[in-house]
Formats: sequence, structure tokens, C-alpha cells
Amino acid sequence: MPPRPLLLRRWIGRVSTATLVVAMFVVALGACVLGLVVWKGYDSHKIALAQSETEMRNLSHSLAEHATHTFQGADVVLDDIVSFMKWRPHPSPVFNERLRALADNLPQLSDVAILDADGQLTYASVKPVPALDNSDRSYFRYHRANDDHTLLITGPIQSRTSGVWVFVVSRRLETTDGKFFGVVVATIESEYFSTFYKTFDLGPGGSISLLHSDGRLLIQWPSLQTGRDMANMVLFQKALPRSPDGYYLTVSPFDGLTKYLAYRRVSRYPLVVTVARTEDSVLSGWREAVRSDAVVATAMLACVVLLAAGLAAQLRTRQEVQNLLRERDAHYRLIDTNMGDVIVLTDEVGILRFVSMSVETVLGLKADRLVGRLWTVLVHPDDVPFVEAVGAGLPDSPAGLCVEFRMRCPEGRLVWLEANFAYTRNEDGPTDCVVSTLRDITRRKAMEKEVEALNARLAELARTDGLTGLPNRRSLDGFVARVITSSPTLSVLMIDVDDFKGFNDHFGHQGGDDALRQLGHLFGGLVASVHGFAARYGGEEFTIVLPGADAVAAVDFAESLQAAVRTLAIRNPASARGYLTVSIGIACGTAPCDSTVLLRDADIALYEAKRRGRDCCVTAATAFVDDAAPLQPEQPSASADATS
Ligand code: GH3
Ligand code: MG
Ligand code: MG
Repeated sequence: MPPRPLLLRRWIGRVSTATLVVAMFVVALGACVLGLVVWKGYDSHKIALAQSETEMRNLSHSLAEHATHTFQGADVVLDDIVSFMKWRPHPSPVFNERLRALADNLPQLSDVAILDADGQLTYASVKPVPALDNSDRSYFRYHRANDDHTLLITGPIQSRTSGVWVFVVSRRLETTDGKFFGVVVATIESEYFSTFYKTFDLGPGGSISLLHSDGRLLIQWPSLQTGRDMANMVLFQKALPRSPDGYYLTVSPFDGLTKYLAYRRVSRYPLVVTVARTEDSVLSGWREAVRSDAVVATAMLACVVLLAAGLAAQLRTRQEVQNLLRERDAHYRLIDTNMGDVIVLTDEVGILRFVSMSVETVLGLKADRLVGRLWTVLVHPDDVPFVEAVGAGLPDSPAGLCVEFRMRCPEGRLVWLEANFAYTRNEDGPTDCVVSTLRDITRRKAMEKEVEALNARLAELARTDGLTGLPNRRSLDGFVARVITSSPTLSVLMIDVDDFKGFNDHFGHQGGDDALRQLGHLFGGLVASVHGFAARYGGEEFTIVLPGADAVAAVDFAESLQAAVRTLAIRNPASARGYLTVSIGIACGTAPCDSTVLLRDADIALYEAKRRGRDCCVTAATAFVDDAAPLQPEQPSASADATS
């Protein structure tokens, strides 16, 4: 398994650039959105805490004010009574009515009562005044023992008159000379505070506490706990010594929850008010907002990811198509550049609209310089009319046409081109544009010419005798067949070399061949001057055709020919003459005549010449006449015999 970086590199190599860009965009956008959410959450967290602190501080301040007013009301009442009792220590029982009125006027007061120096209830707002001994109460004992005149706050204790839990505020009564005279008390039901405190919504776990400065818990809402000694709390140990009001995060000693706590000392009385809210409660709104933001951000990101995925897919498809097109284009260019043919597209007026790149390799022309010019630029000026004429038939040739023409290349070379052209087609059928395929056929043309020359040479060879260079028997037949109809008179000479076997035997076949070559050359020269035709008939036999020659002319020619042969003076030891001679049979005909008959007659005349002793010429007419007569013995002078 390859190491991780290699895997990553391979994966990145496979992923397209577009996908990478989109992925990076999504990651960047996701990071931005995440950053925004975190930043907003952090900011709103600070705001939520600050708001909570402000609210809780304000509430603690209000509650402290409430406590102040509550106890101040009682304080004022008690102060009045203390002043009154100082001067009238034993008022009439009507004083009870006065106390009742005072209690009724101040909603926080439940009872007002006066205890004498022994702790006996002497006056009270309660009707009837019960006979109660409160000398055991802590406040009574305190006032009896201490001569300070400050308001004492104790409780909560259970009222002996009403049975409810009350706070007791009390003052020491003194006579004018300062002796302890009793205690005046006012009670405030603890429910008075709880009823007020419960109007505040502090959320789950939230609480309001009223504490004595010495650490005693007077009342806590909503638990309604009371009397607990809280002197060891951070509040009393650290916070209050530092500042009369404050705000901090702590763990509640009541339920163990982490809570924000705002506190405030009551300035006029030994009281402290605290407001506590759980961290969850303080931050619940913030958490809700963060959750909403997170959901919105997630939804947004999901949409972005989906859109990005779609975009990436589209880009990938586009990239693939582009790659395919690029690949095809490269293939096309490869074919276009390397193919042997040139593709040309001309519009309806013959302007070149497209020329394949192969025109450079095939014709040495630049494709882009041809586009926009007339088609005739690709045709030799002499061939333009011809090509134009062929092209005129294109509308009647749905399969297209083929034409061969020449063209002069820029370097001066003349090339032959073969053009196959047809109308281009689209979905609606043929258009007015013409597509042509041009192919360089210069080599083919050259080869065709060579083949033509070879064929001509072969034909000539087929007509010519290889040894003498004269036309052969086949040519003879053709010539005779041609002239026999056009010439009114015609003479045929059949010539045979005399005693040639013996010549061969003496000089060998090589020597015989040389002699035949000399004779052929001689005969060819002789007939040329009289527009005749000489051919080697076969072996040591020759035929001469003299168009327009009658018997007399033919005999003259034959005799001059024999004379010419003698002039050659070719030695022939096999011949009685000692040199090479020829015998000639002559046949003459007038149109219409049969060539076969003429040749046969000349052959018969030749036999007659042989029979008459060789080295002579005999006409067929003479031969036939003499045919009836007995054969003559061989004579030394053939010419004399022939003409006799
Ligand atoms: P005659 O006078 O009766 O014609 O006698 P002749 O010997 O010429 O006739 P014959 O038919 O007996 O012999 C013909 C000879 O011609 C035989 C052959 O060797 C010779 N001959 C035929 N064709 C060629 C040839 O192409 N080259 C050579 N060297 N000899 C040839
Ligand atoms: Mg012969
Ligand atoms: Mg012969």
C-alpha cells in the first residue's frame, strides 16, 4: 500500500481542476460561514452575559430598595412608638387601636406589639391582646441586655399570635432616665417577601435571597429555605468585603448548579439581597440563537454543497467534452495534415471556404491563404475551361463527378490532380456548396505514359521481325488487308534466298543471320523509295508489297532488287553462282482482289522461279501459263528466264 502522501497525490491527480476549485470554494465558504457563526456566537455570548449581568444587578438593586422600604416603614413606626412610650409609658388600652391602625396602614406589617420589661405582651394590634410571655425570644433578651437603639431584625420565627412565619423588627423601650422598659416589635410575614419575589421570572434554578449581614438566610425564593447560616459563602467571605454590590459566577450551595449571582448590600439595614440565575438559564436564549444560526448555516452550507456538487458535475462534464473535442480536433488535425488528399469546400459562387491543411504537404500551398479565393487558383489556366465544363454537369450528377486537370505548384512543378466533387449535404438535402477531394495523380499519370510507351513498343515488337528489323508476317497481313481495298492495283513479291541451307552449313547460322540482316536492310531501303512494304515472311523468305504497281513495275522492281542483292556480293559456296542470290515470285492483282490468293499466286510463282533455276523472277501469270508446260531445267541466268 502506497504511503498516504502518494495516495493523496494520486487522488488530486485524478480530480479535475474545476472540481478542485469548486471544492476549495466550498471549503472557503464553509470556513467563512463557520467563522461567522462562531464570531456571532461569541459576540452574542458576551452580549447575553452582559445583559444578564445588567438585569440581575438592576434587580438586586430594586430588591434592596424594596427591602429598605419594607424595613424602613417598620422602623419609622417603631421609632414613633419608642418616642411615644418614652413619655407615656402606660397608655390606655385605646393604644391598641392605635397599633392596629399602624399595622393596617403598612401592608408589610402583620402585627405591632409592645412587651413590658418582663417580656409580657401588654399592647398589640391583635384583638384581643393575648396574654403572652415572649421573654424567651432572642430579640427580647438582646434588647434587655443591650442598650443600643438600633433596629433589630430577627427571624423568621413562628408567630405566637398568628402561627405564621414572620420576621421580627424590634427596638428597645426606655424610660426617660434610660432604664429598660420593654421592647416594641413589629412582624413582617415572610410570605410578604416571597409573594413579591415570585413576581420575577428568573428561569429554572433562579432564586432570590434575603440575607442578614451576619450570614443568616432570612428567606430564599422559591425554595423558601430560611435560617441557614451562609457566612462561609464566597459572598460573605470575599465579595461583600470587597464591594457592597457585585456579580460573579459560583456554584450554588443549595442545588450544586453553576449560577451567576448578583448581590447588593442594603445600605440602611444589615441586609443583603442576592439574585441568582443558572448559567443554562442565562445562556438559554443565546444557545437557542446559536442553534438557530447553526441550523441556518448548515442548511445554507448544504445548499451550497449541493449547488457546488451540481456545478462540479457540470464543470466535469464540460471538461470531459472539451477534452474529447480537443482530442478529436488533434486527431482531425493529424489526419488533415498527414492525409494524401486535399479536402476543399467551395461556396455557391466558387469561393474557397475551407481547404484542409494537407494542401501544404500535397501542393506546397498555405491553406489559410487559399481560403477566400476563387477555385480557379487550384487549376492550371489552360484546364480551367475544361474543369468548368465538367462542373456544369454537377447538378445532373447527384453521385458527384470526377475530373483530372493540371495545376502549377508555387515552385513551378506541374502536377496532375484528380478531383472528385459533389454537393455537400445537410439534413434538408444537398446544398449549393461543393466539397471536393483533390488527389495528386502526377505519378500515376507518368506511369500511365510509361505504360503507353511500353505498350506501343510491345505492339511494335509484335509487328517487327527481331532479326532483320523488318515488319513480320502479322504486319504483312495487316498491311495487305489495308491496302487491298484502297489500292486499285497491287503487286506482291515472294522472295526466297537461294541455297541458304548450304550457306548456313558453310558459314554457320550466325553467318546466315548476318546475311539475312543485310538482305532485310537492303529490302527495307528499296521499298521505302517506292512506298512499298517489305516484311520477313519466315525463315529465309521475304515478302514485298507494292501498292499501285502493275506487273511491269513489279518485275522492274524485282529485277532491280536482284541486282542489288548481287551487288552485295555475299559469297555463297553452296550456290552455283558462288554468291548469294534470291528467287522472286510475283503476283499482281486489281481491286477487288483476295490477299490470300495474291500471296498464294506469288508463292506458286516463286516455286516456278526455283524450278527454273533460281536467281530469277517469275510472274504468276507466266507461271500459270507455263504450269501446263513441262518444267524447264535450271538456267544459269534467272533474270533471263524470268522475263522470257
Ligand atoms: P533453295 O534454293 O531451294 O531455297 O534451297 P535452300 O537451301 O535455300 O532451301 P531449304 O528449304 O532447303 O533451306 C532453307 C534454309 O534456310 C534452312 C535453314 O537452315 C535456313 N534458315 C531458315 N531460317 C533461317 C534463319 O533465320 N537463320 C539462318 N541462319 N538460317 C535460316
Ligand atoms: Mg525457303
Ligand atoms: Mg531458299
